[in-house]
Amino acid sequence: MPLTLVTGSASGIGAATVQALQAAGHTVIGVDLRNADITGDLSTAAGRQAIVAQALERSNDTLDGLVLCAGLGGQTQPASLVTSVNYFGAVELLDGLLPALQKGHKPAAVVISSVASAMLPWEKNPLAQALESGDEAMASAIVMGAGEQGGNLAYAGSKNALTVAVRKRASAWGQAGVRLNTVAPGATETPLLQAGLQDPRFSAAIQNFVAPLARRADPREMASVVAFLMSDAASFVHGAQFYVDGGIDAVTRPTQF
Ligand code: NAD
Repeated sequence: MPLTLVTGSASGIGAATVQALQAAGHTVIGVDLRNADITGDLSTAAGRQAIVAQALERSNDTLDGLVLCAGLGGQTQPASLVTSVNYFGAVELLDGLLPALQKGHKPAAVVISSVASAMLPWEKNPLAQALESGDEAMASAIVMGAGEQGGNLAYAGSKNALTVAVRKRASAWGQAGVRLNTVAPGATETPLLQAGLQDPRFSAAIQNFVAPLARRADPREMASVVAFLMSDAASFVHGAQFYVDGGIDAVTRPTQF
């Protein structure tokens, strides 16, 4: 039975992923701020280190799977929390848990990015250098200095850098025998989306963000793709970003893929 760690397990896409993985035979260790096997805070370096340490202790240093769903929406205040959780809360777990995954059976990892990762390209991402170099204070300062645009910048910039971080790890992780992919959801009915809809700064943009399939996703529609990527059926899928967005990336960027 694969042993798989899932962050953001208490809500939304993470909770649906726990259910899908359990149905596929995984034993899941959930991580979240509350209502989880490991409770901890991914917004601080100390919190992330404590979560990695507890994960290694609980798994006896051997994991077969890792799914990183924890994240915050662009409406979060202060906006610097978004870069801390969405970028550092994912990348530091990837790097901290790779040795445990290397010891696992047919190991795989999936990181939940976003369709927003393609909206602020790496070359134009003001956060790219600070995030890639691990300078959390600099990333916070850039976001906090962006005023009204701080939330959008923090969300799109951190998701762009997160997908790049995964793709730049494809070589080392492939050689280590651990598959690693991202899922880029479009608008999905979760508390995160509801919080954005209730914020007057974001609600119109979210409402106007209509996919060709003309509805929002159910979290289970993300979880089924994650479960596929974690399964043997995806045994040659590595370093890929899967858009699960009802077609919105195709209409926004038809010539880029
Ligand atoms: P959600 O709010 O339902 O779930 C997010 C979970 O992350 C919550 O359980 C929350 O407690 C946890 N979390 C937040 N901050 C944390 C911290 N500091 N430490 C530990 N856990 C923390 O949201 P969701 O929509 O299921 O989001 C899951 C992922 O999907 C996020 O990375 C989000 O950016 C991404 N995403 C969501 C949508 C959408 O429309 N819902 C679209 C694209 C991408």
